[in-house]
Amino acid sequence: MQYVFGPVPSRRLGQSLGIDTIPLKTCNWNCVYCQLGRTQPLTNARKEYYPSADILAEVKAVLAGHAPGEIDWVTFVGSGEPTLHSGIGRLIRGVRALTELPIAVITNGSLLYLPEVREDLAEADVVLPSLDAGTADLYRQIDRPHPEVTFERLVDGLLAFRQIFSGKLWVEVMLVQGLNDTAEALRAIAAILQRVRPDEVHINLPTRPPVETWVRPSDEEGLLRARAILGDIAHVVHPIEGSFDLSGYATAVDAIVAIITRHPMRQEELERTLARWAPGHVAEALAELEAGGRAQVVERLGARFWSAAPSRYPDEAHSLAAAPDAFRGLIRPLLGDRE
Ligand code: SF4
Repeated sequence: MQYVFGPVPSRRLGQSLGIDTIPLKTCNWNCVYCQLGRTQPLTNARKEYYPSADILAEVKAVLAGHAPGEIDWVTFVGSGEPTLHSGIGRLIRGVRALTELPIAVITNGSLLYLPEVREDLAEADVVLPSLDAGTADLYRQIDRPHPEVTFERLVDGLLAFRQIFSGKLWVEVMLVQGLNDTAEALRAIAAILQRVRPDEVHINLPTRPPVETWVRPSDEEGLLRARAILGDIAHVVHPIEGSFDLSGYATAVDAIVAIITRHPMRQEELERTLARWAPGHVAEALAELEAGGRAQVVERLGARFWSAAPSRYPDEAHSLAAAPDAFRGLIRPLLGDRE
């Protein structure tokens, strides 16, 4: 399977069958917390990155192989920004014709300023855009966008989409300690959320390996502040344990590569997953992953994560060099004696 993965346990969407419309890691943002490594290429070009007909044929085959109840949602998400695929509307409609399962789109929301993208995404049941900053400055520093996708366009796009979208709009705020969890930053985000009027606000934390070494999830104090300032509709999304479906792949190693390309996994998580699907072969599978050059181990947040080999994570010196000057004072306490 090239475009479809899972079902995987999703923090918000139960057992979610993922559809990946974009090659790793094609995006118009280069977020400091991205779990998929540095963006390469940073592009705002919309095109048919993969043939829509091939994606839909694979979705059809995978759906046919699952019994009712095994999948809760079909979710467009993956190795970059899914709305950069110019056929996203055709794909949503194509999936709708194949199944009655609800359809979600996880997007950074940056292209909602385009009427055609709004019309395409309006056909989904749930759209989950991001809003990590309430000012243009902080947006540039956290999400590091392509120059064409400005903060004004992001906000205008969210407001315009809310006007036409009858499904659920769940806005995700990724909370990074010292960056957007200050009272000032949160109040600026809240002011925009009040205008957008999402159905829910999900406060998320970078618990998978952030690309930049100095990124930390917000602490308890920051989370409390976020809940207080972002209001009653904000709730914290906790990581969940669930079963990764590794059927449909020729080997456990192929399956793991498919999953970690989209969701890097902690060593323990990977060992548990492999133990269930390939009992007695865990050490063998891990060795094969590493030796075959198809996966890499990334150390972040005090843990070892397995990620796809092409993902690019800078070492600490390069990561620190890319930290915005304005943040260096903020991140220094987080670094202890490493700087
Ligand atoms: S987190 Fe999402 S929007 Fe941000 S760089 Fe990664 S893929 Fe792109």
